[in-house]
Amino acid sequence: MPDNLSEAMLASQAAMVEFIARNFKPVVDDIDSVTAQREKIRQASKQAGFFYKTQPKEFGGNPAGIFELTMLRELLAAANSPYTSAVFGPGPGLLHATEGVLRRNYLEPVMRGEKRGAFGFTEPDSAQRPTYAVSKGDDLLVTGQKSYVTGGATADFVSVLVNAEQADGVKLGTAMVVIDRESEGVTIDRVFSTMEGGGHVSMQFNQVRVPMEHVIGKIGEGMPRALGSIGNVRLMVAAQATGICQWVLQYIEDYLQAPHRSGTPLGDREGIRLRFADMRIETYVARSALYRTARLAETAENIVNETIATKVFCTETAGRVVDCALQLLGGQALVTGHPLEQLYRQVRSLRLVEGASDLLRLNLVKGKLELGLGRV
Ligand SMILES: Cc1cc2nc3c(=O)[nH]c(=O)nc-3n(C[C@H](O)[C@H](O)[C@H](O)COP(=O)(O)OP(=O)(O)OC[C@H]3O[C@@H](n4cnc5c(N)ncnc54)[C@H](O)[C@@H]3O)c2cc1C
Repeated sequence: MPDNLSEAMLASQAAMVEFIARNFKPVVDDIDSVTAQREKIRQASKQAGFFYKTQPKEFGGNPAGIFELTMLRELLAAANSPYTSAVFGPGPGLLHATEGVLRRNYLEPVMRGEKRGAFGFTEPDSAQRPTYAVSKGDDLLVTGQKSYVTGGATADFVSVLVNAEQADGVKLGTAMVVIDRESEGVTIDRVFSTMEGGGHVSMQFNQVRVPMEHVIGKIGEGMPRALGSIGNVRLMVAAQATGICQWVLQYIEDYLQAPHRSGTPLGDREGIRLRFADMRIETYVARSALYRTARLAETAENIVNETIATKVFCTETAGRVVDCALQLLGGQALVTGHPLEQLYRQVRSLRLVEGASDLLRLNLVKGKLELGLGRV
């Protein structure tokens, strides 16, 4: 059940509700004002303590558990504001617990807000061979391509999944390696944006020399590390989806009770009530799944399959809820810039990002049939 929160969680929830009400002013259509407002929110978030909830203690943070973060992310998404991403400070992500060069040159600057990383996992369908790294002395020589690197145009470095091998071709396993964007042999061959507003690049790596110290963890751990990081992000995406559902439910409730040109508010009509009921039922179930999985995430158990189930269900629910809201509102909701038009584009990408729904379904069944994993 979504509710049944501890005293501490209730206090955190109330503080975030108050923070949003106080700081998320109506959006102005002026880039300077938006930038200034984001900076104000960052400062206010530091003061309120939210900024530090995604940061480890050793970097001055006060990290919250996954359950609390999920609840707060859902609340933020339910505010449907462009300022949401200014609230939490940068987290360590894949660089978590790195030492030596990786810590000094990447993790620490990231935590200070001086550097920004991107994630290179997806490859183009046309790739002749997945990105590979050949060991040569103290270095790896990386060759290949990544087709969908969000924020890659401005990132200082990219964490890239590679297949590592010895010079004689003997396979060593997968590895996550940190590559400076400015390294020799790195080129950006395409800059593009997507319908929900994201900015991305596709990158080529041509014999890029990467020091062995830039391997995150060990060679052989690449795929589990990448998937571990994706697992956390899938829960974030699910929280975003159910937060969006909540914003839409409130928007539609207000609309159904407002005067309508027919002389009768739409909310008085049974056919409309049935649609609204479905939106509420699906959102209720999605939130229940989200909170159950977020609670499980606080334990040491393997919850890969539960996270997949939650991500698929919550994002597909958000797609149906926004679609139904658009239908109930009519043509005005299709006008460019209308909040539902914007959300329609946003929720569409959620079913692909961090794993297409059908691929996740296949992974979930593999987890059950071949590994005996996953609850219902
Ligand atoms: C907004 C956004 C941001 C992104 N950011 C990043 C990023 O920062 N870094 C990164 O690496 N990637 C990123 N991606 C890419 C994203 O991870 C991929 O788009 C996603 O994993 C799907 O992969 P794909 O696009 O290659 O589609 P595919 O995997 O090729 O899938 C296409 C279709 O084929 C189906 N399909 C594929 N294989 C099978 C099969 N075996 N059986 C049945 N059906 C199958 C899928 O279900 C899907 O419907 C981003 C994507 C989006 C939309």
